[in-house]
Amino acid sequence: MLSKIRVLVSGASGRMGREVSKTILNDEELQLVGAVDKMNIGKDIGNLVGLEPVNIFLQEDLAAGLKSCKPQVMVDFTTPATAMPNIRVALTSGTNVVVGTTGLTPDNLTEINGLCTKYQVNALVAPNFAVGALLMMRFAATAAKYFPQVEIIELHHDQKLDAPSGTSIKTAEMILAGREQSSPAAIGEEKIKGVRGGEMGGIHLHSIRLPGLIAHQEVIFGGQGQTLTIRHDSMSRESFMPGVVLAVKTVSQRPGFTYGLEHYLF
Ligand code: NAD
Repeated sequence: MLSKIRVLVSGASGRMGREVSKTILNDEELQLVGAVDKMNIGKDIGNLVGLEPVNIFLQEDLAAGLKSCKPQVMVDFTTPATAMPNIRVALTSGTNVVVGTTGLTPDNLTEINGLCTKYQVNALVAPNFAVGALLMMRFAATAAKYFPQVEIIELHHDQKLDAPSGTSIKTAEMILAGREQSSPAAIGEEKIKGVRGGEMGGIHLHSIRLPGLIAHQEVIFGGQGQTLTIRHDSMSRESFMPGVVLAVKTVSQRPGFTYGLEHYLF
């Protein structure tokens, strides 16, 4: 029998971190060996996620955790400010990383790429782990050839720190790459500043933040006498788990840096 993949979760006390920890504890091919966060220090991660105690306790010091737990993969769901130092510590210590934290800058991605090469380790940074969301982006990129005008509306829970979402930025990038002609959106007079949303390469993006939402996105194309709407809804954080599990099981076989789970999927 193959040995289990040893995984440490960083941000294990957060909404995504708990879901990921629970998923790993329930997966026969994965072994949760460490849980790092600044909250709930000393608590058993099994208890924290509503399972039996597993004798793995939340700790604050990632470097110490990596040294003592020797994970093959670190999964990070923290904040943009925390993720980068975490990624540096993990990659320089020879641990592969799977990063779900959004809000990383292009400079951050360049640095991760460089660290992967320098330390011969692998990293996946994925703005969205929901397979349906990746298909939504792919369908949007296909439609872009036929509809020069498009707007993106992304809707998330009100605790989300960054706007617009990483997924909406990636969608806009894919649409721009798939376009044969571009047609900037009409703006008109903005009677309330910002009411037409933010703009990226002529595509308008709108961010909605409300309690009750998880992660949703609509891509609306407009053409002569017709519109095409492509919509994806993550109804719960479970929607991200098959993608996270796939990433954790695949990252060691994909040399270097990968941006976007679609590269593991399609
Ligand atoms: P959250 O606030 O519930 O969890 C973040 C956790 O990180 C908290 O437990 C917090 O204590 C911990 N943390 C923050 N700073 C820390 C530090 N310095 N040291 C140790 N721990 C620290 O947030 P969340 O809803 O779980 O989201 C986490 C990230 O994942 C966000 O960036 C969010 O946008 C992203 N996200 C990505 C996907 C995806 O598919 N890629 C899906 C959902 C959320």
